[in-house]
Amino acid sequence: MKSFYVNEEGYYGDFGGAYIPEILYSNVESLRNNYQKILDDPEFQQEYHALLTDYVGRPTPLYLAGRLSQRYGCRIYLKREDLNHTGAHKINNTVGQILLARRMGKTRIIAETGAGQHGVATATVCALMNMECVVYMGRTDVERQKLNVQKMEMLGAQVVSVDSGNRTLKDATNEAIRDWCCHPADTHYIIGSTVGPHPYPDLVVRLQSIISKEIKKQLMGKEGRDYPDYLIACVGGGSNAGGAMYEYIDNPQVKIILAEAGGKGIHSGQSAATIHLGSVGIIHGAKTLLMQTPDGQIEEPYSISAGLDYPGIGPMHANMAKQGRSEVLAIDDDEALQAAMELTRLEGIIPALESAHALAVFKRKKFAPDQVVVLCLSGRGDKDMETYVNQKISNEKDQ
Ligand SMILES: *Cc1c(COP(=O)(O)O)cnc(C)c1O
Repeated sequence: MKSFYVNEEGYYGDFGGAYIPEILYSNVESLRNNYQKILDDPEFQQEYHALLTDYVGRPTPLYLAGRLSQRYGCRIYLKREDLNHTGAHKINNTVGQILLARRMGKTRIIAETGAGQHGVATATVCALMNMECVVYMGRTDVERQKLNVQKMEMLGAQVVSVDSGNRTLKDATNEAIRDWCCHPADTHYIIGSTVGPHPYPDLVVRLQSIISKEIKKQLMGKEGRDYPDYLIACVGGGSNAGGAMYEYIDNPQVKIILAEAGGKGIHSGQSAATIHLGSVGIIHGAKTLLMQTPDGQIEEPYSISAGLDYPGIGPMHANMAKQGRSEVLAIDDDEALQAAMELTRLEGIIPALESAHALAVFKRKKFAPDQVVVLCLSGRGDKDMETYVNQKISNEKDQ
């Protein structure tokens, strides 16, 4: 059986590696030499799990969604990452990375953020640990994500608005890397998804693997077996999906379905469906699939959901999709909006727009009545209320 985990050299098949400027070599190298040791240290584990329990609110429930199951004729469980502190799975990673940073003697944290969710999760743990925090964010995103900027500032972070390029995530990332080059000794860069140079994809997926460890235990209690027939998750960079499937990657009984953001349709020119549309290149320090022009310029992605609006994909997912281990569907804006409304009315849960892409899979795929399907509900929809409300108004106008 083939392993889809990272190899010694930091690759997943053809994807991954660490393509970084010379000046960061020693930082990334010291992270690479230390992360596994630190993560496996019982004292680290104890501290990390204590925070996950008492601060983040884990374990999150595995909820058998009765009315949704009835509608789609199978047994649907929702892994409720929306119930975490700060409203999504991202905090699992930032809690772990700040403990790691502290152990490596770092005193200053930097991060980049697009929608602001990772920025808020980072600013939160920096407040908790009394660490200096600088978050880079494109000016366009600063303007469209005001509430998250206000939260980060209230939490004590400095939000740096980036004016280069298209003033979005990719430009914020470049700026964060530039900062790290200037402060390699005291600064740790907290990357928010399973992207970036090795060892970040592996570090982040291990910290998110708590999701699948809990699913295993919870399913055993509810179904008498510790694995589902299907796992469904949305993918931006791939951290909630990676975390939810981590324990099952080498188990072929568990089929994996991923939802990436189709935007206005994969052929519309306004899409973020990287696995469908991307080609091999280097982004954010890793070799992976990315959306680029024929001469290698990164294309600006589009999705109604800010958290899926990323022009790359984590190398682990690029490899699993290429090898046929996962099936990837491109879900369009409209399908996601409809799925969000459906979950809200059937179960009384308003999902994040990102998670709604995963929910839309039920309209595309049929499952048998005895099949167990676990869907990672990555976050809650509070942050998306404006989009939901505006959509409802424009629908009513159309009718
Ligand atoms: C950031 C985010 C995502 C996408 O990131 P992944 O790393 O692919 O998980 C998905 N859902 C929510 C709620 C998010 O905030």
